[in-house]
Amino acid sequence: MTDVMSMASLESLLMSRSLSDAELGQASGMAPDYAILPDVSVIKVGGQSLIDRGRSAVYPVVEELVSVKRNHQILIGTGAGTRARHVYALAAELGLPTGVLTDVGAAVADQNAEMLGYLMARHGVPVVGGSAFGAIPLYLAECGAAIFSGMPPYDMWQHVPHEGVIPPYRTDAGCYLVAEVYGCAQMIFVKDEDGLYTANPKTDSNAKLIPQITVEELIAADLPDLIIERPVLELMRRARHVKSVQVINGLRPGLIRRALAGEHVGTIISAA
Ligand code: ADP
Ligand code: MG
Repeated sequence: MTDVMSMASLESLLMSRSLSDAELGQASGMAPDYAILPDVSVIKVGGQSLIDRGRSAVYPVVEELVSVKRNHQILIGTGAGTRARHVYALAAELGLPTGVLTDVGAAVADQNAEMLGYLMARHGVPVVGGSAFGAIPLYLAECGAAIFSGMPPYDMWQHVPHEGVIPPYRTDAGCYLVAEVYGCAQMIFVKDEDGLYTANPKTDSNAKLIPQITVEELIAADLPDLIIERPVLELMRRARHVKSVQVINGLRPGLIRRALAGEHVGTIISAA
């Protein structure tokens, strides 16, 4: 009854108020959320951290993904990495705006998805572009996995950063948003460190591993550098489904399987 009443009041608010109206905004969130693919996990394979390391890092990850897809439905998103950084450096030096950097950076995540797709083709795993996402349930039912390019398709409509021209919403955000929109079971970031540290362990030998932290604590800590894109924390604050993510080390065999099984094997970041 309450649901029916709140829907009626939403409808009347939508007819009479602006879409920026606060009461209307609140009313639009009254219905219970519907998780579209609640049994699926999204796994992001890092660009710079994994794919750019080539065969020695990529083959074992591919093998593990092929093996886990027998028991789990997985959506595999790709990072961009060094080639994107090169093109960002070039485009920024040419004075081009964030929207252009986003567009050219996205091409690198696409390349990584394409290469991963060829490596997993014999296992029946397809690469899906944004316009083919409607077929994802079929692919998952058929073979347990699908690959997508991690960059969100903001192109020239990318949010402008507070400083500089580097696109703020890149492949961590893109993969996270897929997990959140589909109401997925888990979001796992596969990178090349054991998790989040107090500083970048590659440049600070005193950096300490943080096994678990909340989004609020992490924002308050204001660390000099993070293992995931900062806007992901803002997205998690407003999450309706994916309120925790895990960052794991893809250079250590077996961790993808264990993380999928719900084990704590890296850093878990959770929203309150
Ligand atoms: P991806 O390949 O998914 O794009 P990135 O290279 O962007 O991943 O991010 C992973 C890297 O972040 C790690 O290799 C690490 O060097 C760096 N990093 C920066 N700050 C931290 C931190 N606080 N804890 C752990 N790693 C960090
Ligand atoms: Mg990155």
